[in-house]
Amino acid sequence: MSAILSIKNLTKIYRRSHLGRTTSTVGLKNLNLEINEGEIMGLIGPNGAGKTTTLKLILGLLNPTEGEIFLMGKKLPDPTVIQRVGFLPEVPYFPRNFSVQEVLYFYGRLSGIAENQIHSRAEKVLDLVRMTKRKDKHVRECSKGMLQRLSLAQALIHDPAFLIFDEPITGLDPVGLTEMREMILSLNKSGKTILFSSHIISEVEKIAHSAGIMANGEMVKVLTSKEWKGQSGSLEKIFVDTIHERGGIEL
Ligand code: ATP
Repeated sequence: MSAILSIKNLTKIYRRSHLGRTTSTVGLKNLNLEINEGEIMGLIGPNGAGKTTTLKLILGLLNPTEGEIFLMGKKLPDPTVIQRVGFLPEVPYFPRNFSVQEVLYFYGRLSGIAENQIHSRAEKVLDLVRMTKRKDKHVRECSKGMLQRLSLAQALIHDPAFLIFDEPITGLDPVGLTEMREMILSLNKSGKTILFSSHIISEVEKIAHSAGIMANGEMVKVLTSKEWKGQSGSLEKIFVDTIHERGGIEL
């Protein structure tokens, strides 16, 4: 297996200046990580652990303070590579007066899909997220579960090879959660590599091939599913023990 994503010594220090004083917060410290093609990796960690910072750095939404990221063999930032990445943000925002279909056309155009392909791509992703019958619904009428599925459709509109999901299952009801899990697994079966963050460790355990435990801006442990399979809840135990071994969380 070859690494599709390779992160080397990645550090992010957030600096903020106010009234002549500069404050610094460590977002991420010296992260080294590899993800193989076709893998699903879950990032877990307490609030403020650095999960979103990691995802945003890969997406180029933040500039690293130090370190390098290689994706699909190219050093980032690289506009051709980033076009092959799909992103589902933690808090999706769509214009309230757009219909579901209009949202997908809008994102399809933004992703550079040819005009004569947009309709068929939108139909395809609507089918994938089981929203074909809801395509004329307005965003303002959508439930949390529907918005999450629309967000997934938006992330898939340009048929990316690498998917980044920030908290894709948070706040979903049991049906929505099961559907999202099935969609993630089916996307992976169709060849997509997926990196996602989550607080729901029991789901990471079900979906992921590997998991990274983060705390206080550091990657503390990377585990493969072999290390937690066979014992239900064991990833949760490894997680809690790992955080305790580090003396808890710095607040
Ligand atoms: P959560 O589970 O709460 O979403 P997280 O693991 O995604 O947390 P990050 O959001 O990456 O954590 O935050 C890592 C650290 O960086 C935290 O200490 C946070 O306060 C800090 N941080 C994040 N964004 C900023 C910002 N824009 N400016 C300053 N500090 C920030």
